[in-house]
Amino acid sequence: MGERIESEGHYEMLYDCEHCGTKRLLAKSQRHCAECGAPQNPDKRYFPAEGEAQRVDGHQYEGADRHCPSCNTPQGAKGKNCTQCGAALDGAREVKGVVAAPPPPKKRRRQWIVLAVVAGIALLVFGIWFAFFRTKAAELVISSHRWERAIGVEEYGEKHDDAWRDQLPEDARDVTCQQKKRSTRKVETGEEDCHTERHDKKDGTYEQIKKCTPIYREEAVEDDWCRYTVRQWRALDPIKITGGGRSPAWPTEGLPPPQSPPVLGMRRQGKRTETFMLDIAGQSCEVPAATWNKYSDGQKVKVEVRASSGKIVCDSL
Ligand SMILES: [Zn+2]
Ligand SMILES: [Zn+2]
Repeated sequence: MGERIESEGHYEMLYDCEHCGTKRLLAKSQRHCAECGAPQNPDKRYFPAEGEAQRVDGHQYEGADRHCPSCNTPQGAKGKNCTQCGAALDGAREVKGVVAAPPPPKKRRRQWIVLAVVAGIALLVFGIWFAFFRTKAAELVISSHRWERAIGVEEYGEKHDDAWRDQLPEDARDVTCQQKKRSTRKVETGEEDCHTERHDKKDGTYEQIKKCTPIYREEAVEDDWCRYTVRQWRALDPIKITGGGRSPAWPTEGLPPPQSPPVLGMRRQGKRTETFMLDIAGQSCEVPAATWNKYSDGQKVKVEVRASSGKIVCDSL
């Protein structure tokens, strides 16, 4: 987020002479060893240690050095012939350069572990299916029909609750609010978090680059947190009746009127619900009304049962 990038200039890469062992020669300005005159090996360049950096003032970057195909010394990107041996530089390859971090070696063992884990999971899934979900066909007798019917009961009353001011229900009453922290926002502190990176330009220099990101702090955002009351119909325990046989009925006793005016303490009827059960060979299935009506008591039906436990799969009815 909002990274600022700034060049801090070019500096000499260093190398050690492979011939006489002289250390810390300058890769840009000393193409040959200052002690013995041996040519530089560009593949051995390295970044200087802290405090040893040598600035290259007014540096014009022209491109990565190339290896002379004949004598292997590093040559500037614009040269046409090697300054060491005179060979033509057409198609000469770039020097390697120092990479930030080498990629970690790949591990073959990991693939085997992944493969073994996948095989293990597949075996486990199959085992669970075989033990608990496998089914077989069976012919069973319906022994009886049962039903349950319920009518909801609602009472008009007061409910107390809390909410942010912009989320209050329209009919909220007795609203009292106080300030409270609702969220936070990020605010720039004006300070930055910076680090420097060194990029090998492969021409005997590296560029030092400063990368900065702004530092933020969290600031509380306050809003009105309100206590309020609403009047509404709320559900009490429904009135239920249950029975056997194929003629279900609705409850008739202890019911409030179907409709009532919205006055505190008044009651009215709510939602109607019904469930239907079939008893089969000592087990019980809750089924849709259409399925319940389709069968009669004493009828033989083809169903799926769990191979392991003999439990009826009710959806197969
Ligand atoms: Zn040397
Ligand atoms: Zn050459």
